[in-house]
Amino acid sequence: MQNVPGFKCNECARSFSVGEIEYACPACGGNLDVLYDYERIGKQVNKAALAADRNFTMWRYRALLPVEHASPTPPLAVGWTPLYDAPMLAAEFGVRQLLIKDDGRNPTASYKDRPSALAVVKAREAGASVATTASSGNAGAALAGMCASVGMKSVIFVPATTPAAKVAQLQIYGATVALVEGSYEQACELCLAASERFGWYQRTTGYNPYTAEGKKTAAFEIAEQLNWQVPDRILVGVGDGNIIGGLWKGFCDLKQLGWIDRLPKLTGVQAAGASPLVDAVNGDGVIRPVEGRTVADGINVGDPRDGTRAMRAMRDSGGGAVKVSDDEIIAAIPRLARATGVFAEPGAAAAFAGFVKLRESGAIKSDESVAIVITGSGLKDINTARRAVGEPLRIQPDIAELDRLLS
Ligand SMILES: *Cc1c(COP(=O)(O)O)cnc(C)c1O
Ligand SMILES: [Zn+2]
Repeated sequence: MQNVPGFKCNECARSFSVGEIEYACPACGGNLDVLYDYERIGKQVNKAALAADRNFTMWRYRALLPVEHASPTPPLAVGWTPLYDAPMLAAEFGVRQLLIKDDGRNPTASYKDRPSALAVVKAREAGASVATTASSGNAGAALAGMCASVGMKSVIFVPATTPAAKVAQLQIYGATVALVEGSYEQACELCLAASERFGWYQRTTGYNPYTAEGKKTAAFEIAEQLNWQVPDRILVGVGDGNIIGGLWKGFCDLKQLGWIDRLPKLTGVQAAGASPLVDAVNGDGVIRPVEGRTVADGINVGDPRDGTRAMRAMRDSGGGAVKVSDDEIIAAIPRLARATGVFAEPGAAAAFAGFVKLRESGAIKSDESVAIVITGSGLKDINTARRAVGEPLRIQPDIAELDRLLS
């Protein structure tokens, strides 16, 4: 990790050198920020070198990632997901530009492939033979898939309420699966106790310092895909807050390198039934844990594990935060899909629902260019999606009957 001089705790601000820590801050338990030597990185890679690089995965930004020089990366193609221009939707809502970053296109169909791919690299560097994580579903599926691709064992802890498709992914990838009769927070506690006892490599968000680094790669892609321009605003669903904090880190990295000249507003979207960060940002800044209750399992986090950094991203960027109801999330799924062809899972559609709400209230202005990060595929949770649509036509194979039904 020659480009990484050390770590800094984002709670108590203590600094640590490489090799001194493995996971969270030993002093206060806070999340660690990975520090970089930008001058050194600037000598290794630049925009022209990237333009010539045929590696269309997150690993094209390897110089900006905390991995050893010779570490092999998992073979699955993670990242460099499409950034679609959606002009019809932009016209419908009256904004200058609307962009859709489709991270459902990743190997296990969610944004979580980015942090999990990086975690597997770190697990192998640490000589681990088993990796573990707690998850609301996607992080676990991603870790299980990445582990399968390199022949590593995985043990995944998810709430028993996790959608069936996500649980099926875990089992199909060969993970040892623990369906925890409890909340995501309780699954986290159990997973942390288990890795302590059995010595497994621990990926859990808010403990492993590298997840946010994997998550920042989408910021690099958005900037590069727009020829090093940045949108005025980016919206993303927020649970633990690790994605939005990671995106902020990514844009700040690019600003430090001088590759972009301004930073986007990052707007966090939470479900009304699990909105401690939105309430803190729009209130007195104090995060008050709640019992999360929403159909959007990917963002059903009542006690966010990376709240401080998430709040900083929303406040320092000026993007702020908004919450949406489950009904608004469910309605957003077909609305987005019918206008763009992108089928989002509830936690991802929440970002679009947040856009709809802020545009209709006038908080998002007509001259803005806006990007919406679709963090997971709609195929991850078809039962919720189907609540937005009626029953399909069912007919005998008879053209006369079709005539009757369509008229
Ligand atoms: C994990 C996840 C999020 C939120 O990411 P956090 O880092 O927990 O804030 C949003 N959408 C989906 C689909 C997710 O799986
Ligand atoms: Zn600390």
